[in-house]
Amino acid sequence: MLKTRQLSSVELTKSYLEWIREVEPELKALVTVTDELALAQAEKADELIAAGEAQSPLSGIPVLIKDNMCTRGVRTTCSSRMLDNFVPPYDATVVEKLNDCHVVVVGKTNMDEFAMGSSTENSAFFPTRNPWDRSRVPGGSSGGSAVGVAAGEAVYALGSDTGGSIRQPAGFCGVTGLKPTYGRVSRYGLVAFASSLDQIGPLTQDVADCALVLGAIAGYDPRDSTSVPYPAPDYTQCLRDDLKGLRLGVPKEYFVEGMQPEVAAVIRAAISQLEGLGASVDWEASLPHTPYALAAYYIIAPSEASANLARYDGVKYGFSYAETDSMWQAMEKTREHGFGPEVKRRIMLGTYALSAGYYDAWYLKAQKVRTLIRQEFDQAFSRFDALITPTSPTVPFKIGEKVDDPLQMYLSDVCTLPINIAGLPAVSIPAGFTEGLPVGMQIIGKPFSEETILKVAHAFQQTTDWHQKKPEM
Ligand code: GLN
Repeated sequence: MLKTRQLSSVELTKSYLEWIREVEPELKALVTVTDELALAQAEKADELIAAGEAQSPLSGIPVLIKDNMCTRGVRTTCSSRMLDNFVPPYDATVVEKLNDCHVVVVGKTNMDEFAMGSSTENSAFFPTRNPWDRSRVPGGSSGGSAVGVAAGEAVYALGSDTGGSIRQPAGFCGVTGLKPTYGRVSRYGLVAFASSLDQIGPLTQDVADCALVLGAIAGYDPRDSTSVPYPAPDYTQCLRDDLKGLRLGVPKEYFVEGMQPEVAAVIRAAISQLEGLGASVDWEASLPHTPYALAAYYIIAPSEASANLARYDGVKYGFSYAETDSMWQAMEKTREHGFGPEVKRRIMLGTYALSAGYYDAWYLKAQKVRTLIRQEFDQAFSRFDALITPTSPTVPFKIGEKVDDPLQMYLSDVCTLPINIAGLPAVSIPAGFTEGLPVGMQIIGKPFSEETILKVAHAFQQTTDWHQKKPEM
């Protein structure tokens, strides 16, 4: 409609901004609504479209950005008091790439503080509500991005995923969410949590959109030394309707103890459907080191976080506690008041694991476990093109239900974090419902096989309509 001028980007943007105003008081998915920027970008997009100069199908389309990606001139808080007043002087590479496509940024989304959490309840500002049941969490840490897409506050969103933060909220909110292979998308301008695990990816209404957005943000970036120098393919070219000849494995360890039986049933039914599309399925595949992934993650991620978060000293930028006598006290007070309890817990865990005398027992051991997990996936991918698991062991839980029990909260990512440990790509797609709540299915691929997992996910969406269901608004 934009291309044929039946609709202008300004009209489209205004209608999204109006909808945002209507639903935000209840959902609280956004930290900042960028009305002015959005309208200016929409006007520009309209001009380019009229002149026939807008090449990207994303031109003029509204998007939401998680609030841990730097946006020039727009507050970027990480949902932390520490960065409450931080206005970056530059754009993250992914934002720059979207701007090159002349997209329309309508807002920045709420998240767990510094992306540490699984429910968006760790936001220093407010919790976000799940549009399918407002007494429940949307998942996290990209909860605002998932809700924004599920509730139609934008056409798509960007999130970040360190241990499941795109896929778990996508699963909880009934949208499609993809974590790319480590190194596929530049992390430049993404506020660092755990640098060896972090990746940025899309949250969208369906797989076709996901392929489009991934293609727009992927690619080598000299400003991120871990980004790989492979050109980004056109991911929309790989989308097919049948899965003939594809070998799928279902690792039994992912149907963990404590998993809701209804969730397992939905996933098993969805896998049968993939079988019906022509794929061969091994229902008894095994990744025996899986039970150690959670422990390894909660050593490695906090260790990296403790180093990355050392930069918040109240001197260079962000929150600063001024009324003190000494430099040391200023630093202490800044960190005491600037960070929330989960962030402090991670810094303490990480500092402990890295400290002299404990390094070998904890950090080094976790790295060895990481290698074993990675090797085990390598071996599995000599037999399978993709692995299928639930995204989460449960449906979205109640707000407040797990806040006092960090271990229960951590267990929410038991199916997603091994994938970050191994640096693999994985996508979560809506696979069905139980008690009116969405259930996500995770499709995991070998490094840089985003095309394969998108193909599987797309074929599934061609014969099901779970991704088209919308919460009542
Ligand atoms: N929930 C996990 C954690 O708290 C993962 C978060 C993420 O992927 N950013 O660390």
